[in-house]
Amino acid sequence: MDCLFCAIATGRIPSAELYQDDRVFAFLDINPLAAGHTLIVPKAHAARLESAAPSDAAALMAAAQRLLPVLAAETGAPDFTLAFNNGPAAGQEVQHLHLHVVPRRTGDGAGPIHHLWKAGPRKPGTEELHDLAIRVQSRLEGRPLPRSL
Ligand code: 5GP
Ligand code: ZN
Repeated sequence: MDCLFCAIATGRIPSAELYQDDRVFAFLDINPLAAGHTLIVPKAHAARLESAAPSDAAALMAAAQRLLPVLAAETGAPDFTLAFNNGPAAGQEVQHLHLHVVPRRTGDGAGPIHHLWKAGPRKPGTEELHDLAIRVQSRLEGRPLPRSL
């Protein structure tokens, strides 16, 4: 398969490698949002979070936990935004799961992820949210929907 991050994770395409273990590979983003912007990918190809093995998803987070204090020490950034662009409609351009780890500083101007919605969020009604919660719970538990929904 012709996948950029598979090629990077196996070393066929060079990268600024930071860390690897038997499940994950971490490297610096080529077009960083801040110094130290890191991508962590599973070595086993998966396009998005829900198609990865749960053990690979857990390994991705464990690698982030190891890297965060080291990146903080080396970049001087105290905080981080951690993000998945999970699917094309969410802005994912490389279709191999990757966790963005972006060093953040007070006053860096980027704001919280809520700023992605520049026009402000659409406010769903309380009833719409309640119905949604019931439908999600029912689907997760394999229960039929209540008659009212
Ligand atoms: P996405 O939009 O898919 O969440 O983010 C893909 C990220 O991969 C971007 O931040 C982009 O800068 C980074 N990227 C794309 N191609 C390369 C590459 O060849 N090497 C590295 N190190 N990063 C890349
Ligand atoms: Zn891949």
